[in-house]
Amino acid sequence: MTPVTKKITVIPGDGIGPEVVDAALKIISATGIPLEFERHDAGASVFERGIASGVPKETIDSIERTRVVLKGPLATPLGHGNKSANVTLRTLFETFGNIRPVRELPGVKTPYSGRNLDIVVVRENIEDLYAGIEYMQTPGVAESLKIVSREGCEKIVRLAFAFAVAEGRKRVHCATKSNIMKLTEGLLQHTFEDVAKEFPAIESKHILIDNCAHQLVMRPEQFDVIVTTNMNGDILSDLTSGLTGGLGFAPAANIGNDVAIFEAVHGSAPDIAGQNKANPTALVLSAAMMLRHIGEGSAANDVEQAILVTLENGIRMGDMQGEGSPASTTQFTETVISNLGKRSKMSASREYKTLAPRNRDRKVSTVAAEKRRVLGVDVYVESVDRPAALAQSLQVITAGLPVKLELIANRGSSVFPNTERRVSLVDHYRCRFVCDGGGDLKDSEVLTLLGRIGEFHPWMHVEKLQQFDGTDAFTRTQI
Ligand code: NAP
Repeated sequence: MTPVTKKITVIPGDGIGPEVVDAALKIISATGIPLEFERHDAGASVFERGIASGVPKETIDSIERTRVVLKGPLATPLGHGNKSANVTLRTLFETFGNIRPVRELPGVKTPYSGRNLDIVVVRENIEDLYAGIEYMQTPGVAESLKIVSREGCEKIVRLAFAFAVAEGRKRVHCATKSNIMKLTEGLLQHTFEDVAKEFPAIESKHILIDNCAHQLVMRPEQFDVIVTTNMNGDILSDLTSGLTGGLGFAPAANIGNDVAIFEAVHGSAPDIAGQNKANPTALVLSAAMMLRHIGEGSAANDVEQAILVTLENGIRMGDMQGEGSPASTTQFTETVISNLGKRSKMSASREYKTLAPRNRDRKVSTVAAEKRRVLGVDVYVESVDRPAALAQSLQVITAGLPVKLELIANRGSSVFPNTERRVSLVDHYRCRFVCDGGGDLKDSEVLTLLGRIGEFHPWMHVEKLQQFDGTDAFTRTQI
C-alpha cells in the first residue's frame, strides 16, 4: 500500500527561526516518511504588513486544513499596539495545553549532569494573565485580569494525567499560588485534587509554585510531570530547560482539541540570528514530538536517537560548555542526518503511546449553582481625595440606598475604616458596598448606586460580590 503523504503547516518564524526550522525539516525529511510542507508566515513580517494579529488568513487556512504545525519562534513586539502572534495562534486554535519535556542529554554538561533528570511541565496555554486582558484604569494605574475557568483547569489537568499514563510516568505535581490567589489558582488545585482520584495508580501532589521553583533547583529528581497555570508554567519551564542544558535543548507541543503546534521553548534570539550558530536541537526534538503525534513513532524515535548519538559523540554547539570551536547549525544538522538509524549507548527512547484525540467542544461549559445572592458590590473609583474624605462623600451618596460602605482599599491595602494606615496612596480606590442586613442586591440598585457615584467620582470597574450555594465567590479584604 502506498503510504499517505501527511501535510504539515510550517511557519519559519523570526530571528533564528528559519535556520532551526530548516534544520528540522532536513532531518525529518531524511527519515524518508512522506510529508508535504505548506510554508506560511506569522510574526514580525506580518505585523509589518499591518496585520495586527500577526497571523494572516492564508496561514490560518493552511492550519485549518493540515491541523498540524511546525513553528519557529515569533518575535513579539513590546508595548502597546500589536498582539503576540503566538497568543493569536494558541487562542485561534484553542491549543489549551503546552507540554514541555526536558531530560538529561548525553554530552550536555550542566551542574545537574548525572542526576538523570526527566521532567515534563504541562502548562495551561489559553487562560490566566496571558489572555492579556488589560486596562489603564487611570492614567497612572494599570489592571490585568486573571481569568481561570473550571473547564480550562479540567482540560489541562486531564491532559497532564493522560500524558503521564501515555508515557508510563509515576507522579504528577500540581504547582499553584493558591495560598494567595485562592479563587483563581485555587480552582486549579481543587480541580487537580478531584481529577487525581480517577488516577489512583499515579501519585498526585500539590505544591506551591514558589516552593516548586526552589525544589526544582535543590532536588529536581523528585519531579516527573508538573501541571500548572499559564504564567507559572512559562517561567517554570524555562527553569527546567536550564536544568538540562538551556533553551537550545527544550522542545514543546501545544495541544488542542484538533490542532497541535510544535515549537521550541526558546524565542527568536535576535542576537545570533542569521549567523549559522543557533542550536536546532530544541526544534528538532519538537519535530520528533510532532512525528509521534501524527503516528510516525518509529521515525520520531530515529530522530530523537540521532540527536542523542550526535551529542554523545561530543559535538558542541555554541550554547554548550566545552573547549574548541563550536559546530555550526548546518554541521550539526548534517551530523544528525548521518546518525539516523543509530542508537544511543547512554539513553533509550521512552515507550510512548499516542494521546487519545479530543473532541472539539461545542457546548458552553457551565458549573451550576442552586442558590445565588449578590451581597454587595466593589466599585473602583478615581479620586485624589484622602480616604476619610472619600468615605464621607460615599456615605452621603449612599443615603437612602439599601447598601452601606464597608471598606475602601488602595493598591490592595485597606484604608477605611482604619484611615490611619501608612500606605502610599494612588488615585485609584476600590470601594466595597454591602447590602444592609445581608440582603440580595438588585441590578437596578447597583445601577442607581453607580449613577450617584459617577456624579462625584469617575468609576472604572464594578464587581458584584456574589455568593453561590452559601459560599462567598469573592475574597474578603484584610481589614
Ligand atoms: P530567546 O529568544 O529565547 O533568547 C534568549 C537567549 O537564549 C538568546 O539570546 C541566546 O543566548 C539563547 N538561545 C535561545 N535559543 C537558542 C538556540 N536555539 N541556540 C543558541 N542559543 C539560544 O529569548 P528573548 O531574547 O527573551 O526573546 C526574543 C524574542 O523571542 C522576543 O520577541 C520574544 O517575545 C520572542 N519569544 C518567542 C517565543 C515563541 O515564539 N514561542 C518564545 C519566547 C520568546 P546567547 O545570548 O547566549 O546567544
